[in-house]
Amino acid sequence: MNDAKSDPRVRRVAISPGSVSVLETARHDRPAGWSRLQVLACGVCGTDLHLLHGMKMPAGAAYPVYPGHEVAARILEADPDADLPPGTTVILHPLLPCGACDPCKTGREHQCASGEMLGIHRPGGLSDELIWRSDRLVAVDDLDPLLAALLPDAVATAYHAVKRAALPPGGKLAVIGAGGVGTNVLRISRALDPSSQAVAVVHSDSTARRIAGLGFPIVQGLAGAGRAVRELAGSMDTVIDFSGAAAAPSEALRMLRRGGRLVLGAILDEKVALATTYTGLVTREIEIVGSYASTLSDLRAVAEMAMSGKLPLDGLVSHVIDLDNAPDALDILEQRPPGMVRVVVKP
Ligand SMILES: [Zn+2]
Ligand SMILES: [Zn+2]
Repeated sequence: MNDAKSDPRVRRVAISPGSVSVLETARHDRPAGWSRLQVLACGVCGTDLHLLHGMKMPAGAAYPVYPGHEVAARILEADPDADLPPGTTVILHPLLPCGACDPCKTGREHQCASGEMLGIHRPGGLSDELIWRSDRLVAVDDLDPLLAALLPDAVATAYHAVKRAALPPGGKLAVIGAGGVGTNVLRISRALDPSSQAVAVVHSDSTARRIAGLGFPIVQGLAGAGRAVRELAGSMDTVIDFSGAAAAPSEALRMLRRGGRLVLGAILDEKVALATTYTGLVTREIEIVGSYASTLSDLRAVAEMAMSGKLPLDGLVSHVIDLDNAPDALDILEQRPPGMVRVVVKP
């Protein structure tokens, strides 16, 4: 237990390409407009693994990195006039947008070119405590911090993708890839419109069992999934891909109705392969859109849904790791043992 007043040292995970360690470091000063936060739980995801493997850093960021961008925390200190007082349990929107550029001013803060990311540009939540701008905090009342920590990335990203999908009322949606984000896409689309129909295209047996257990029809295996989805549920209004599999966009096109929309959400530096012709896209008026990250208003929306019980989060956390053993969390992520969903670190 870290008593912040008598012991100002905080444990903090540091990552450089190929190495991860847990250091003891000094506390950060808290600037005006920022809150000091005691970390309650911090999710670990593929981004942290990319950092460990050595990724090209965005402008303004450099190794070593103090990771952790999926954070639930308790406010320790804030300005006297802050909206959220000390003692409040919060989650952090992981982006600090500049607030001045065109995307920021038009509600697309997640497209801000000079925004800073928690756990990349700024020290993150794989730590006993951290500081973050008070206007980027969202209160989560008495939500379990282990589950609340998933809202800023896996859940808000899924919510943003469902918005990008623009499914008509009672529409049909196929989701390719039902891991941490895809599972939430399924649950959020059902919570927002119980009359919608969502089909999941899954890979492993364990994922198939988990998703079937949530009551969603499944197609297992991507090869031939286009035809299998149509036979199971007819043509889709929208397909959302979070698998990033090379064949996913082409199979998705086979699932879509004319005028349907394909939402691409996985992040990978591969060329997109589409097994169709220019004419095939044009005459069917297929829409292909990207969906990236989330905004503060997306995060507020999923927090509301979770707090009201409209969006269940059970079953999403498969591994809980102590902060001292945080390197193990990255190992688990690397090995992807069967049944892994999300890995959460708890100080
Ligand atoms: Zn993440
Ligand atoms: Zn901006």
